[in-house]
Amino acid sequence: MKQPIRVLIAKPGLDGHDRGALIIAQALRDNGMEVIYTGLRQSPVQIARAAVQEDVDVVGLSSLSGAHKSLFPKVVDALSKENASDIPVIGGGVIPAEDIPFLEESGVQKVFTSGTPTDAIAVYIKQLIHKETPVPPKKISHIGIAVKQIETALPFYQHTLGLQLEAVEEVSSEQVRVAFLKIGESRFELLEPTSEESPIQRFIDKRGEGIHHIALEVDDITLRLNQYEEEGVPLIHKEPKKGAHDSQVAFLHPSAAGGVLFELCQPKQED
Ligand code: ZN
Repeated sequence: MKQPIRVLIAKPGLDGHDRGALIIAQALRDNGMEVIYTGLRQSPVQIARAAVQEDVDVVGLSSLSGAHKSLFPKVVDALSKENASDIPVIGGGVIPAEDIPFLEESGVQKVFTSGTPTDAIAVYIKQLIHKETPVPPKKISHIGIAVKQIETALPFYQHTLGLQLEAVEEVSSEQVRVAFLKIGESRFELLEPTSEESPIQRFIDKRGEGIHHIALEVDDITLRLNQYEEEGVPLIHKEPKKGAHDSQVAFLHPSAAGGVLFELCQPKQED
């Protein structure tokens, strides 16, 4: 059996509120981790020493005071001075998105904004410690566009934009005809419903023609779906199904991404 992951949750600096840190600590315990909480107002050196003494696998910093840009990198430095730079540091709290690139360049492994579900943080820590962090999707595989009729929609793509029509294929599982137009590394897919029950027909009835989904190319679709399920990401498909060109595809629920429908797409393995 794997040893439980040990996490030090710390609040560097002067801010006096630790409700968020306590919620995270409890969520990580609920996920089977051993959590040590340092309490309020710890200096970076105290935090680094506690991390070493407690022999933790990861340090989680929380900051609400706005001082994260100076304090988080100081904790990274203090760990390095204790010869413990192998202990990754993650951070969260009230942190504007603008500050994330700086913090990650300063050696903070990952920064979570306040909207991150606690289960997603727990899954991230497990992946980090067990070295199973998934690689990000490789590229936008295609953008799916719902059209009433491919032949009517095609002139804009073929003639106005000058793109080449690669193929038209029927995907019976989705009850659609699909026209593929390559653009750089990606494609437009024009999706025409072939029956009243087609999801594309329902989309057009509700919202009219237009952008239907964005598909991301991945090479670990099953693993990724399992991880998303564990994190509580709402999914339309928990298992991949067959898409165009014998690819494997699955859709996330649009509520996962602020109303945008994302598809994961793993191309057929070339023999
Ligand atoms: Zn698609």
